[in-house]
Amino acid sequence: MSASPSRPARRGFARWLGETNEITRLFLAAGQIPDLINLAGGLPEPATFPVAELAELAGRAVAEHPGDALAYPPIEGLPALRDRIAERYASERLRLTRDNVLIVSGGMQGLDLLGKVLLDPGGLVAAQAPTYLGALDAWRPRAPRYRPFRPDRNDFDAEGALAGAQFAYCVPNFSNPTGRLVGTGTRRALVAAAETTGTWLVEDDPYGALHYDGEPLPRMIELAAVPGEAPYDGPVLYLGTLSKEIAPGLRIGWVIAAPGMIRALTLAKQGSDLASSGLGQRIALDALDSGLDRKVLPGILETYRRRRDALCAALAGQLADWFDWEVPVGGMFVWAVARDPALDTDRLLAAALEARVCVTPGSVFDPEGRDRRAIRLNFTLNDEARLAEGVRRLATALRALPA
Ligand code: PMP
Repeated sequence: MSASPSRPARRGFARWLGETNEITRLFLAAGQIPDLINLAGGLPEPATFPVAELAELAGRAVAEHPGDALAYPPIEGLPALRDRIAERYASERLRLTRDNVLIVSGGMQGLDLLGKVLLDPGGLVAAQAPTYLGALDAWRPRAPRYRPFRPDRNDFDAEGALAGAQFAYCVPNFSNPTGRLVGTGTRRALVAAAETTGTWLVEDDPYGALHYDGEPLPRMIELAAVPGEAPYDGPVLYLGTLSKEIAPGLRIGWVIAAPGMIRALTLAKQGSDLASSGLGQRIALDALDSGLDRKVLPGILETYRRRRDALCAALAGQLADWFDWEVPVGGMFVWAVARDPALDTDRLLAAALEARVCVTPGSVFDPEGRDRRAIRLNFTLNDEARLAEGVRRLATALRALPA
C-alpha cells in the first residue's frame, strides 16, 4: 500500500545512515541469490560446523541448565564462561580472572561497545589501514576522525601512530582485509607506545586460530602483561569470538581487558542488549569444556589451507596481468591490488555482479572511501571448483570493463 497523500512528511534518519554502505548486507544475503559465487564476505564453510555436537549441547543446555539458558543472564556473562575464557588465555605472565572478561554478542558487539565507551563525537581513532569495515560501521554514529597507520611499513613509528588518539585499532593476525600478519617486533612497539602515550590499544583477533603456515606470534595482550600483576591491568583490549572457530550463529565473543575497562563496557552493554543469549553462552561453555573447539580445528585448517591454495592458483592462472597479491599464511582473505592505479574496483564490483561473482571493493575499508585500487577475496566459503569458477567470472568482468 502506498502512503496516504494526507500524511505529513516524516523526519529523516540520522545523518550517519546516509554515510553507511550496504555491502555487508549484500554479503550476508548473497547466499540467497541463485548462481552468484560469493567471494566477498568473511563467511566460514557451513560444512565445518559441528552440527550434531551443537544440537546435543543445545538440548542439554535447555533441559539441564534452564536457569543459565533461559533466564536473564548477568550482563557480564555467565560466571563459568568468563572463568573459562580467562583460563583459555591466561599464562605465567598474563594473569586473568573473570573480572577481566566480558561476554559479548560476537566480536562485532565488542567493537560497538568500545566505540560507545571510548569515543567522543568526532574523536580521533588511530586505525591500522586498510581497516575492517565492520569497525568503521560500528563507530560511524560517532563520526570519528581517523588517522591510519600501516604497521607493515619499514618506517612505522608506533608512538607517532598512537599519540593523541582516543584508542588505536589493530587486527594483528591475518588482518581483515589484507590477510597480513603484524610481526612480533611491531607488536612490541605498539604495546610500548600504548603504555608511553596512555592510549588504549584494541587487538581484534577473530582469525588467530586460522593459522596455516608457521608458528603463532605472541598476542599483544600477553606482551602488555606485567609479570606478577594480577589481575591484568594493561592498555590492550583483546577481542575474541567463536564465530570462526565453531560457528558464527552462536553470536558469542568476548572482550578481555583491565577490570575498570570491563566495568565501563558492562555499563554500555546494559544499554545495548542487557546480556548475550544465555542459551548461546551455555552452549559455548559446554563446547569449550568438552574441547569441541580443539576437535574441529584440524578439519577447518585443512579445508581452508586447500582453498587458499586453490584461490591463489586460480588468481595466478587468470588475473596475474591485472593484480598483485601475497599468499596469506592464515585467515580468510587474499587482498589483490590492481597493477593499474586507474582501475576502479567500485566499478569492477558492478561488472562482477553482472558476471555473477561478488567481491569486496577496497574502498569500503578506507574511512574516506577513496582507495579504489584493491579487492578483498574470501577463500573459505567456496570449494576449489567454485573458487576457480569465481575467478574465471572475475576475469570476464575485468575484460568487460570499459577502458
Ligand atoms: N573483527 C573482525 C576483524 C572481523 O573480521 C569480524 C568478522 N568478520 C569481526 C570482528 C566480528 O565477528 P563476530 O561478530 O562474528 O564475532
